[in-house]
Amino acid sequence: MKFVFESWTNYKIVIKDTIFILGRNLLQNKLEFKKCPTCKYTWENQSDFLSDSNLELIGYQANFANPGAGIILFNHSCHSTIALKVKSVENLYDGPIFKKNAAGDECPGFCLYKDNLEKCPVECECAFVREIIDIIKAWPKKPSNLPQAV
Ligand SMILES: [Zn+2]
Repeated sequence: MKFVFESWTNYKIVIKDTIFILGRNLLQNKLEFKKCPTCKYTWENQSDFLSDSNLELIGYQANFANPGAGIILFNHSCHSTIALKVKSVENLYDGPIFKKNAAGDECPGFCLYKDNLEKCPVECECAFVREIIDIIKAWPKKPSNLPQAV
């Protein structure tokens, strides 16, 4: 048996002149950050996803009990909606995360409307998600290999 290493995502095992190609298929589960539920396009990692010009940030569904479980919504160019957990992008923000929920006090109520993507001026435990949304909106986009929506 011979082991032929070609790259981190492509290697072969040769047993009695039969070549078994390993790599991408084997690693696929690990290399999936998000998959489109409709067209099955797969983003291998977070930066792939954030820089894809075929995705448009369209909304945010707050989870008041657990802000990390809130959902950021994107439209894919195939017209599907993709739901991304706040948790999977919370590494983008390294500013303060407040402990208290400001609902009922000076809260402007942005989180009650899923198409409101404005930054929140209040020191509230949900405010950091809006900072993350701002970071995603400003993320440099690169053209993807999928056809653009018309
Ligand atoms: Zn899609």
